Amino acid sequence: MQTGAMAVPADDRPHAPILTFLGGTGTVTGSRFLVDTPDARVLVDCGMYQGPKELRLRNWEPFPVDPATIDAIVLTHAHVDHCGFVPALTVRGFTGPVYASDNTADLAGIVLPDSGHLQEEEARYANLKGYSKHHPARALYTEADARAALRQLRRMDHGGEVTTVAPGIGVSFRHGGHILGSSIVTMEIDAPGGPRRVTFSGDLGRPNHPLLNPPQPLDGADIVLCESTYGDRVHDDSQALERFADAVRRTAARGGVVVIPAFAVDRTEILLVHLRQLRAGGAIPDIPIFVDSPMALAALDVYQRAITDRDPEIRPEVIEEPDVFGRNEITEVHEVEGSMKLDALRSPAIIISASGMATGGRVLHHLDRYLPDRKASVILVGFQAANTRGRLLADGARQVKLLGRYVRVRAEVVDLPSFSVHADRSELLAWLGADDIPPEVLYVVHGEPGSSASLCQAVIDELDWNAVVPAYGERVRLD
Ligand SMILES: [Zn+2]
Repeated sequence: MQTGAMAVPADDRPHAPILTFLGGTGTVTGSRFLVDTPDARVLVDCGMYQGPKELRLRNWEPFPVDPATIDAIVLTHAHVDHCGFVPALTVRGFTGPVYASDNTADLAGIVLPDSGHLQEEEARYANLKGYSKHHPARALYTEADARAALRQLRRMDHGGEVTTVAPGIGVSFRHGGHILGSSIVTMEIDAPGGPRRVTFSGDLGRPNHPLLNPPQPLDGADIVLCESTYGDRVHDDSQALERFADAVRRTAARGGVVVIPAFAVDRTEILLVHLRQLRAGGAIPDIPIFVDSPMALAALDVYQRAITDRDPEIRPEVIEEPDVFGRNEITEVHEVEGSMKLDALRSPAIIISASGMATGGRVLHHLDRYLPDRKASVILVGFQAANTRGRLLADGARQVKLLGRYVRVRAEVVDLPSFSVHADRSELLAWLGADDIPPEVLYVVHGEPGSSASLCQAVIDELDWNAVVPAYGERVRLD
């Protein structure tokens, strides 16, 4: 790809390749890793900061380098904390290609416009109700900005072949097993002392994902960046499904509604697979299931297509299953009117709605309605970042602030983090340790501080590797 017009200004170029940690440090959001070489500048992941205000404010700060000087962006997967800032960079002058796997490109085509739309809606609602501290509240980018940014996507295959993305920089993608399309990205950099291999784990999946094949092996690298979302925890899977079924049964027995805030991409699919199996096995009663998220439903279509196309990411046994999501048994809610009707349910039902950490989206209205209801329950099925409503609920908050006012929490709250699609501590260590040759250095990223520190220490103690938790904004040499 000829990107000379966008090259780094000569006076700004390092003499050797440099990596700068622009996000995903001390937090699970805002993943952004900048690689600068004498000839090129490439950003791996371009995530939005979410959660605590001091992090969200970083989305509004000037980008640390002029976006127009970035030759290319490479995305590991379609979650907003990894790709959600792409339209913000294009608005600020980035015009280069954005490389992503085929399935990531399809999912980003859903996620990014939705993110822009959601921001416009939230700004409009905040201005209408007058509760925003910003006057007027505004969106980081609009749906139209996101659609324009999608035109910069370039589709890569997961076969492992190297594609040149900027002068002297090639990348290859392999399955990450975290969500559909998720990739482990290896960058091959021409350096004065010889080529250098840098591998970015992206978010790493679990060996037992019900739909996706396990992550591919690390496969040798000079430098590795590994996520650490669950770097300090081991998932207890043995009880998870049973606890989930119990919570649904209890809620149905008292005539209540189950609200499940779910990440639209992948978590909704996993929930539907489990719900179908639990219903079929009689473990939960036959109550209506509503999927109230146009984005989740669009993502469901992408998963369905991958299964039909026998995509190599999909587990062989899933390909043979005709209706793995039980779509005939669920009600798909696309329109706002249908969503509003769900707040007047008089009998047991399950509502699956985004966003997964209850930071935005339609689920806020359902929480507003059902949190004060003793009969209802809220089941949290994924990682809840610090200071999000999801985390506050998981930690037992008695009130949460929703849509500008405080709501009393009387519903039962059930926290089931082992539904996560992130590898846990032992799975991360197993993935890293399976590689015969240790990297020169492992950077432990994408975790809250305790989690990253804990994984880092385990890698030092158990694998005897050179491992470090980098700081925000830190620059390190890659040569
Ligand atoms: Zn992710």
